[in-house]
Amino acid sequence: MQLDNFLLAKAQGPLSEYLSAMTELEPETVPLTSDVDTDVAIVGAGYTGLSAAIELAKKGHSVRVLEAHSIGWGASGRAWGQIAAFSKFMPAKVERDLGEAIAAKVNGACAAGPDLVFSFIDRYQMRCSAYRTGNLVSAHTPAKEAELEAIARDLERRKLPVQLLDKAATKAYIGSERYSVALFDPRGASLNPLGYARGLGRAAISEGAVIHCRTPVRQLEKMMDGWRLRTPAGSVKASRVILATNAFNSDELFPGLGRAVLPVRAYQMISEPLGKEALEIVLPGKQPLNDTRKLFSGVRLWPDGRLQVGVDGPPFAMDGEAMLSAVRRRITMMFPILKDLRWEYSWGGWVDMTLDEYPRAYPLADGLWTGFGFSGRGIAMGTLLGRDLARLAVGGSDLDTVLPISTLKPIWFHGIHRPLINCLVWKYRIEDYLNDVRYARLGSQNLHPL
Ligand SMILES: Cc1cc2nc3c(=O)[nH]c(=O)nc-3n(C[C@H](O)[C@H](O)[C@H](O)COP(=O)(O)OP(=O)(O)OC[C@H]3O[C@@H](n4cnc5c(N)ncnc54)[C@H](O)[C@@H]3O)c2cc1C
Repeated sequence: MQLDNFLLAKAQGPLSEYLSAMTELEPETVPLTSDVDTDVAIVGAGYTGLSAAIELAKKGHSVRVLEAHSIGWGASGRAWGQIAAFSKFMPAKVERDLGEAIAAKVNGACAAGPDLVFSFIDRYQMRCSAYRTGNLVSAHTPAKEAELEAIARDLERRKLPVQLLDKAATKAYIGSERYSVALFDPRGASLNPLGYARGLGRAAISEGAVIHCRTPVRQLEKMMDGWRLRTPAGSVKASRVILATNAFNSDELFPGLGRAVLPVRAYQMISEPLGKEALEIVLPGKQPLNDTRKLFSGVRLWPDGRLQVGVDGPPFAMDGEAMLSAVRRRITMMFPILKDLRWEYSWGGWVDMTLDEYPRAYPLADGLWTGFGFSGRGIAMGTLLGRDLARLAVGGSDLDTVLPISTLKPIWFHGIHRPLINCLVWKYRIEDYLNDVRYARLGSQNLHPL
């Protein structure tokens, strides 16, 4: 059994046994130790790189995936686990931002995102605790309630199967007095992100791709007839290359690539299993829940009754710790029955933020492609963008792909993004805190805010 993953290795006792039992084992791979040729080389074994590898290998191309660490080591093995049927934004905003034609493709693809992921899970029989209970978005202030109601009207006009829950239904679905309005989207789903990443790895290998873990690409050289990727103990010569390095994009592999993304740290925390009484109250239908606050609102139940939550923490520290006190305060406010809940494990991962927060494919040079910008919505979108990149790499055009294709632009304030984002995060923390104090029992009988 391989236990070299960041999560399994650090978890102690029953949680480690539990994760091992419900996660696919990492497929066996060997590091690259010689000089080899291939049609397409892919850097990064997360959802994007692995989905590209599956698409290419299925079409008969020879594929090598080069991964610095292990399968799913990046954001793909560390996610919260929700698959939403929307992008980061609701359909009307996507239309305003991208124009009707591109928005129709993007909104349609997002709506079909959970189906796409489940088609892979079913075809390759992945063990990743995936379930489709739908998902919930609740409003955390009266102003956001009005916004959610307007969104619900727009979604109804578009004939999407999303339902606005009234106060009684909101309370029944969530089990909390904190909210009085929520959107229920029956298309949403959740899964064990690391299990899905490993499942994609196994699928890519079964289709004929070769994956080399513990193989960091140090240099990418243009040659007369393709590219050479240099790693510590070998090299790959490829006619085409896909860089699926996400928040780890680096100017060392291609000038400007690292400066086109803003990597921001996000944290997750897992509790002990909830008791029987709490399980009857807290999210009894097991829908993952987000609310409209600015920072980290995700809460979901694992199949064995543990709670996994998105948590605030230092936005740029590699070894930063999730803020336990913030989790305790928020979860106790939402679910007073959980005031003594023990939190057993936490971890952080880098999210690839971009200025407009839309995932895109980027042609970098002849035979060289990249794609990123999921901004925390990459389970379905990474799977989709990987397929798009694979199609582009073998001669496809925007007629064969779904997500927008753009020219790479370094972000002009990249050199000072950390202090700027730190200021923004503090503003959001204060806003969220004040709204929690003010509207702690929005869904209680007392309809007036405290
Ligand atoms: C804490 C957290 C919670 C999230 N929650 C959700 C969620 O609930 N729902 C959702 O849809 N999305 C979520 N996301 C976002 C989602 O996880 C990502 O968008 C998605 O995993 C991106 O996949 P990827 O393959 O593009 O990148 P990654 O999974 O980050 O993979 C990139 C890989 O490239 C490798 N690499 C980088 N440089 C090199 C190199 N030079 N040589 C070799 N290998 C290299 C890295 O080691 C890494 O494994 C979350 C992200 C985080 C961090």
